[in-house]
Amino acid sequence: MINTLFADIILPLAVRGRFTYMIPSDIPHTIRPGVRVTVPFGGRNLYSGIVCKIHDIPPDFKNVKSILNVLDSIPVINETQLKLWLWISEYYLCTEGEVMKAALPSEECLNNYKPRFETFIELARDFSDNELNEILDKLKKAPKQQDVLSSLIRLTGYTSGSEKNPVSKLLLLKDSGASVGIIEALTGKGILSSKSLSVTRLTESESYKDPVKELSPAQAVAYHSIKKQLIEKDIVLLHGVTSSGKTEIYIHLIDEQLKKGKQVLYMLPEIALTTQIILRLKKHFGAVTGVYHSRFSDPEKVEIWKRVADEDPLNGYRLILGVRSSLFLPFSSLGLIIVDEEHDGSYKQHDPAPRYHARDSAIMLAALHNAKTILGSASPSIESYNNTINGKYGLTELNERFGLIKLPDIIIANTREAYRKKQMVSHFTPELLHAIDDALGKEEQIILFQNRRGFSPYIECPECGWIPVCFQCAVNMTYHKGIGKLVCHYCGHTSDMPTKCESCHSTGMVTRGFGTEKIEDEIKIVFPDARVARMDQDTTRNKNSFNKIIRSFEERRIDILIGTQMISKGLDFENLTVVGVLNADNLLNYPDFRAHERSFQLMEQVSGRAGRRQKQGKVVIQTSDPANKIVRMVLRHDYVSMFRMQVDERMTFNYPPFCRMVRISIKHKEKALLNYYSDFLGHELKEIFGKRVLGPESPVISQVQLWYIKTILIKIEREKPPAKAKQLIIKAIERLEKEKGASSLRIAIDVDPY
Ligand code: ADP
Ligand code: ZN
Ligand code: ZN
Repeated sequence: MINTLFADIILPLAVRGRFTYMIPSDIPHTIRPGVRVTVPFGGRNLYSGIVCKIHDIPPDFKNVKSILNVLDSIPVINETQLKLWLWISEYYLCTEGEVMKAALPSEECLNNYKPRFETFIELARDFSDNELNEILDKLKKAPKQQDVLSSLIRLTGYTSGSEKNPVSKLLLLKDSGASVGIIEALTGKGILSSKSLSVTRLTESESYKDPVKELSPAQAVAYHSIKKQLIEKDIVLLHGVTSSGKTEIYIHLIDEQLKKGKQVLYMLPEIALTTQIILRLKKHFGAVTGVYHSRFSDPEKVEIWKRVADEDPLNGYRLILGVRSSLFLPFSSLGLIIVDEEHDGSYKQHDPAPRYHARDSAIMLAALHNAKTILGSASPSIESYNNTINGKYGLTELNERFGLIKLPDIIIANTREAYRKKQMVSHFTPELLHAIDDALGKEEQIILFQNRRGFSPYIECPECGWIPVCFQCAVNMTYHKGIGKLVCHYCGHTSDMPTKCESCHSTGMVTRGFGTEKIEDEIKIVFPDARVARMDQDTTRNKNSFNKIIRSFEERRIDILIGTQMISKGLDFENLTVVGVLNADNLLNYPDFRAHERSFQLMEQVSGRAGRRQKQGKVVIQTSDPANKIVRMVLRHDYVSMFRMQVDERMTFNYPPFCRMVRISIKHKEKALLNYYSDFLGHELKEIFGKRVLGPESPVISQVQLWYIKTILIKIEREKPPAKAKQLIIKAIERLEKEKGASSLRIAIDVDPY
C-alpha cells in the first residue's frame, strides 16, 4: 500500500510556520523540494508557495487541503537556499514567507519569463567564395545592396566552408547605413535570410582578460597572511587603510577560486559602488562576471538568477558583484564571499522584514557552502574587530597605501570660532575655501560631504519660532528648492512652501540649517567658474544616474562634487585631492550608541577618497567642537584607539558586542491604545527578562504616516545561545496578539538593530 504523501510549503505570508498540504496522486512526479506549487489558503485565495519537505506524517488537524498544481519541472531554489531562508527566519524572528518575498524575483516573471528576441540576418545558404564574388559583381547596379552584403561578410568574417554566423539586423543596418527595404530586397532574391534569436537583456562585457596586477610587497604579505589564516579559520578580517589595494587583493583571491571552478560573491553596501568595481572585475574575469541589485527590472533579475544557477562554465555567472539581496541568488558552488566595507550600516535591512544583516547572513551562507568569508574595511565594525581579538576571525592588517602615498592630511576647521570672527563665507570656513581654491587652481578635483539632502532641514518663523511638520509624521519638513516644495523624508509627503506663519501669520519664513542642495547653490556663488554637480538620492533616481555622475567626475567634467554618504565610500578617483566634511557635529551628536563609531567610519571613509594616486590628499573637517575625541582620532587615523574607547563604553553600559539586542516596535493609530498595548508587552517581557528590558519608550521619530510608535529594547546575554530567549520573546508577542483589539497593531521585531 502506498502512503499518502504530504508537503510542507512556504507561503509568501507574514504568518509564522510552514503549511502542510496533501499531495494528490495525480500530481506530477516532478514535485520535490524547491519547486513552486499552487495551493488554496484562507478562504478562496490561491498562493504559490515553495515545497520545502515531502513526508508521510499526517498533520494533527483535519481537512488537510490538497496541492492544486505544480508550477515548475525543476526546482527554482536549491537546498542550500532553503537552509539559508530557514536560518534567517529563525535568527531574525521573521517568517520564511517574508524571506521568500525578499529573495525571489517577481513571481509573475519566474512564471512566465519571456526571453527577448531579436531579428538576425545571415546568408541564405553556404555560398562559395566564387559565388559570392559573382553576386557582389552583379549587385554593382544596386550599390546599396552591395554595401549590405559586403558589411555582412565583413562582420561575420565569412569565407566558404566557415560558419554562417548570423548578425543582428540592427547592427547590420547601422554598419551598412542601409534601410530595412534594402535588406528585404536581398532576402527576396534568396541571398540573405532572417531569423529570430533570443538575446540577453543585460549589457554584455567584452570578454577581454587582463592578467591580475602584481601585488606590492606589503600587499603580498597581506595576501599570504589571509591565505594562511584561512587554513584554520573560516573568516578573516582584512583591515587595510583606504587605498591600500584591498580590491587588488580580493582580485587575486577571486582568480584563485574561479580557477578551482568555484563561484565567488563580492558584496558591496551600495549600488553606487558597483559602477567602478564592476569594470575592474570584468577587465580580469570577463563575461563570467555579473552584477545584481534592486535597480534591475524584473525580467533582468530573472535572467541574472538563471545565469547564476547555470553551471555551464562559459554561459553561467561565476562571479557576482552585488548588494545585500545578492545573498539570495541560486549559487551552487560558492568558494568565497567577500564583504567589502563590512562595517557599513547599509548591510542591515530595516524595513520590511526580513530585517537581516547581510554581512552576518553572508557568513552563514558561506558556512552552508563550506566556503570562506573575507571581511574588508579601513575602519572595521566594533563587532568584527572584537571577533578578531577573541579569536573567532583571523586578522590581516595593511597599513600603507599603494604606491606609498601618505594618508590624507587632516585639517580641523573650527566653525564656532570662524563665526565669531566673522570669517565664514556662507557655510564655508577659511580653511576649506582655501583648500578648494588651491585645488581648483591646480585643476584638481574636490568632494564636499554633507549628510543631509535637500536645501534646508527645516524652515522657521523668525517671529514666533513655528516650524512646519509633516501632517502625518513627527518630523520637520525639509525644504527642497529645486522643486520649490517642503518634503517629508519619512513618508515622502510634499506641501507648498508657506508664505505666512500658520501660528502668528507674520510673513517671511526663513530656511534653517543646510543640505546638499544649498551647498551646491552656495558653492556656485563662491566659485562661479567651477563645474559643480551633486550626488544624492534626489539626483540619482534614474537607473543610470550613478554611472553618469561617476563617469563625468572621472572624465574631469566636474570640478566639485557635493554629496551625501553615497559619495563617502569605495570610490576611486585619480585626480581627487580635496575632501571637505561640512558639518561633523550632526554626525557626532546623533542619539545612538553607535554614533561615535559611525562618525569615525564615515569621516575616515570620506577622507580616504582624497589623494589616492600621485600625491597626498587634504581633508578639511568643519566642526564646532574641535576637541572632540572622535575628531582627534580621525585626525591621527587612529582606528585602534577609537576601538578601545568604544569597547570600554560598551562594556560599561552593556551594549553589543557584549550583549545581543532585540528591538520591538509597536505601532497604533491611537496613542492611548498604543500606550496600553506597549505597556502590556513591556510587562510580559519584564516578567521574563527583568531589568534587561528597556522601555517601552517613544523613539526620536514618534509618529510616521499617522502611526504612533513605541519601542521596547531587550538585551540578551551573549554567553547563552539566543534561540531560547527569542522563543520567549515570540511567546510574549503571541500573548499580546491574543489581546482584544490587538489586530489593529503593527508589530516589528528587529534582531541586532542598527
Ligand atoms: P582599497 O580597496 O584598499 O581602497 P584599491 O584596491 O582601490 O584600494 O587601490 C587603490 C588604487 O591603487 C587603485 O586605483 C588600484 O588600481 C591601485 N592599485 C592598488 N594595488 C595595485 C597594484 N598592486 N598594482 C597596480 N595598481 C594598484
Ligand atoms: Zn510665527
Ligand atoms: Zn511624513
